[in-house]
Amino acid sequence: MIGISKLYCGQVEPSDALRYGRRSGALPSHLLQFSEDKKPVLVWNMTRRCNLKCVHCYAQAEGEKGEDPISTAQAKAMIDDLARFGAPVLLFSGGEPLVRRDLPELARYATSQGMRAVISTNGTLISKQKAKELKAVGLSYVGISLDGTRELHDSYRKNAEGKPSFDEVIRGVELLKKHEVEFNIMATVNECNVNFPAEFYSSLKELSSFVQFTPVVERTARGDVATWSVPPEKWGKFLCTIFDEWVRHDVGKIFVQYFDSTLANWVDAPPSVCTLARTCGHAGVMEFNGDVYSCDHFVFPEHRLGNIHSRTLTAMMYSERQLQFGKNKHDALPKQCHACRFLFACNGECPKNRFAKTQNGEEGLNYLCQGYYAFFEHAAPYMESMKKELEAERPPANIMQMLRKNELNIHRQ
Ligand code: SF4
Ligand code: SF4
Repeated sequence: MIGISKLYCGQVEPSDALRYGRRSGALPSHLLQFSEDKKPVLVWNMTRRCNLKCVHCYAQAEGEKGEDPISTAQAKAMIDDLARFGAPVLLFSGGEPLVRRDLPELARYATSQGMRAVISTNGTLISKQKAKELKAVGLSYVGISLDGTRELHDSYRKNAEGKPSFDEVIRGVELLKKHEVEFNIMATVNECNVNFPAEFYSSLKELSSFVQFTPVVERTARGDVATWSVPPEKWGKFLCTIFDEWVRHDVGKIFVQYFDSTLANWVDAPPSVCTLARTCGHAGVMEFNGDVYSCDHFVFPEHRLGNIHSRTLTAMMYSERQLQFGKNKHDALPKQCHACRFLFACNGECPKNRFAKTQNGEEGLNYLCQGYYAFFEHAAPYMESMKKELEAERPPANIMQMLRKNELNIHRQ
């Protein structure tokens, strides 16, 4: 594997092209999608600074050094507003949130106001001291960005000097484990690691029983698909390969968010990933300066809902505009999706990625459609079987035994 991926991925250099999309990075969306009382939750991009310079990330230009535009006192005032709104979860994101030295203090403040504080981090700045602090402040979850094996990860995630970051991430993970801070791995799938699904999956499940990954789909300012984006056909093969391993060996042991969400849609339950849900708009995003937008994938002027200093979060997140943003996910689907037999499972995926044309030339098809369709078609008989188990109030994990005994009549070409 090591030699092969090196050959395949080569040295990927960051592009200077302006990004069309906001980010393809992974967020712990199982926390963002549905709060218990259906209140929208908030991602707070509290800094644009970052100590890494990942190929696919918008934050790379800002660097680690510099001042943040809001002070600790201003940040606490924002948290006060969120508490009045009754926000159940506050996700500190960035940039890299741990470049702010006051992050533990702010997380403590958020938890003291009754919120679940969560951070999404590249993991490289987690020192022994920081791990202790994160444990002490009652942080409920740390999402770590890690994209597979050392070589797969280091192809895209380097620091400003071009040095790899894998070892530092693993050191951070080990410190979190040692200090009993709950964490999960959040991976991105790009044009490189998509070619190594088996290695990717086994490396992630070694670290965590919760496997979450997000396809990278980015466009340049000219509208071209960025070269580091995952190609649709490969995305389908990637999902199918990991699914085949999971469905035979790991159901009930390893939580793979895409498969869990697909099964949820199969049994008409809410999926845990927003991209496969029927509507959007459950998780707003607040920029470091208090501007609030409809979603982390839509930080564009036309999706600005207001500023926390002049408008309450309640007014913004329950505004007609935000509700319409949520409904548009379904309403704006092209005819091909409405006629698709897997619409219930796919829901046209993320509107950010709908820039392809349908077979009839209609705008608005998801760029990854081919991959998703292939995956749903592949997974369908297994999903049907797990659905039957659930309906009979038996664990879907029974499918593994059925496959071992050859009891499922699934024919593959
Ligand atoms: S636009 Fe919708 S599907 Fe895409 S990330 Fe936002 S909430 Fe999720
Ligand atoms: S698989 Fe393709 S056609 Fe079907 S709902 Fe998804 S994006 Fe639309």
